[in-house]
Amino acid sequence: MLKDGDKGVVLQRDRETYGVAPHIPCGVVTPEILRKIADTAEKYQVPMVKITSAARIALLGVKEDDVDRVWNDLGMSPGSVVGICVRSVKACPGTTYCKRGQMDSLGVGNRLDEKYHGMELPGKMKIGVSGCPNQCGETSFKDIGLVGTPKGWRVYVGGNGGTNPRIGEVLAQRIDTETALALVDKILAWYRANAKPKERMGRTIERLGLDAMEEALGLGGDA
Ligand code: SF4
Repeated sequence: MLKDGDKGVVLQRDRETYGVAPHIPCGVVTPEILRKIADTAEKYQVPMVKITSAARIALLGVKEDDVDRVWNDLGMSPGSVVGICVRSVKACPGTTYCKRGQMDSLGVGNRLDEKYHGMELPGKMKIGVSGCPNQCGETSFKDIGLVGTPKGWRVYVGGNGGTNPRIGEVLAQRIDTETALALVDKILAWYRANAKPKERMGRTIERLGLDAMEEALGLGGDA
């Protein structure tokens, strides 16, 4: 029997079959990807294909004997669905398609995904990017959230869902894209240096204080 994470699978409720969720950066697919997923699901008689909250498309109920062949037919890499790492980067369409977009959330989301998806950290981390304050990327509930405004990015830290949900706090605002990306790098370094094992960033901030975080990042409390 495979364990969660082996070969990129997650054991299902029946304790016999597996979920297979390929990595789909920022949830953007092509007709070819959809066709490949549909063909694979049909070929291996996968009982359910589900769009997940991390904007992946999961094949659920895959038999153990089929796992290698399913991955081979998909020809895609696994999404980081388990593990103590950057699990997902969620981004809305932003200025690429949305009429309300103020900033390029999809472009920035893809850059963050490329750099950080699957990166090991002290705790689980989710990142969200929204093109405007409507926050369709659920940015306030992410460990790191970037929100587009007419004056640049606003950066939230310390949000999470789960059994003890938390809304993130504003760490910086009115910053351009390169400054925001550099800040994400610094936030991750701070988190790596200060978090206890398995501690979500919101709890680290509660324990040490947002002021201390701002000071360590050189933001002086009024970035
Ligand atoms: S957050 Fe704003 S830019 Fe993004 S999809 Fe929603 S309304 Fe559009």
